[in-house]
Amino acid sequence: MSPRTLLDLIRQRITQFGPMGLDEYMGLCLGHPDFGYYMTRDPLGVQGDFTTAPEISQMFGEMIGAWLADVWAQMRRPDPFVLLEVGPGRGTLMADIMRATRRVPGFHDAACIHLMEMSPVLKRAQGGALAEYGARWIDGLEQLDRAQPVLIVGNEFLDALPVAQLEYRDGRWWERVVGLGADGDLVIGLGDVSSAKLDLLPPDILNARENDVFETSRDLNRFLKSVNNLLLEQSGIALFVDYGHVGPNYGESLQAMKSHKFVGIFDTPGLCDLTAHVDFGAVVRLAKESGMMVHGPVTQGIFLKNLGIEYRAQKLIEGISGDGGQNSSSVCGVNEPQIEAIKVAMNRLIDTKQMGSLFKAVALSSDPKIIPAGFHEGL
Ligand code: SAH
Repeated sequence: MSPRTLLDLIRQRITQFGPMGLDEYMGLCLGHPDFGYYMTRDPLGVQGDFTTAPEISQMFGEMIGAWLADVWAQMRRPDPFVLLEVGPGRGTLMADIMRATRRVPGFHDAACIHLMEMSPVLKRAQGGALAEYGARWIDGLEQLDRAQPVLIVGNEFLDALPVAQLEYRDGRWWERVVGLGADGDLVIGLGDVSSAKLDLLPPDILNARENDVFETSRDLNRFLKSVNNLLLEQSGIALFVDYGHVGPNYGESLQAMKSHKFVGIFDTPGLCDLTAHVDFGAVVRLAKESGMMVHGPVTQGIFLKNLGIEYRAQKLIEGISGDGGQNSSSVCGVNEPQIEAIKVAMNRLIDTKQMGSLFKAVALSSDPKIIPAGFHEGL
């Protein structure tokens, strides 16, 4: 019988093939063509399940636009070049990037916008947001024109790549797997771990202790390897912004979110967002192993402040108040809510208690001559 829900489908698969890894579970929940979370809805914004930096404020995309224009100038303004966003959501970030770079001579003419997106719903939203620029969609990096330099951006993309969880018990590693309990509920168990997944453990994990959990991601590894190979073949740079950690052995971070609240990962398969904190240590290690230059990671707060977000906020406030925002009496009244909204949005992005410190930015480049802006202060 064909399954009517994702839970039915997962139960059927477990009954037929045995317990599945959490990475397989996460992949089905997010990307199953009929039931996958991203495949069937636009999850972003106040009405949705979570909000991201570009949806919080136009300033985020403006900073990244300036960052890209600077990198492009350092690369001697290649024309044409591929401007690729991975996991572009509603297309808001790319639309803000393009608006911010409108006055950069030659940038728009040279940029061939490419979007790597799996969701048909979000592809439609991106098409609308970027109608005037003529974006092209790809399913994987191998579909890019290999003759052009590449600038890649990805905000909250890496956290959506499925992770497996390995657990250290009785002196060896096991894989946490999803099985069925007596009443048909999804439950976590331990199974043998494949050597392919063991190979993804970092070298310094050897002194693991009982009950330690470590997350690894074949998809993250595969994706980053293809980014590194592409950039080594073409010149270019990739910028990833996401929440995550830098040190190894962080523990488990797989989480589910619905209507802006955390829920259990088995509560509503396919109907809530599933993400994991990005292992930036692995991102850096993989890039260095490939011979890439790594810039950062630095926290999102430091990155955006280095790029001048506070000046940009001040400019926006001046534009609204018409007096430089200096004279508080003139901003009382109609403009005050708008000015307050700009300040609140900026603080959300850079405050260490909000997104400023959990979120990190890292840039990977194959060209030692490119010194990307924003990374001159460490974590
Ligand atoms: N960058 C956007 C959206 C973040 S949500 C923002 O900051 O607002 C994650 C995005 O990645 C969504 O667009 C989702 O559909 C896409 N995505 C997740 N996994 C993907 C995959 N394996 N391949 C392509 N796109 C993917």
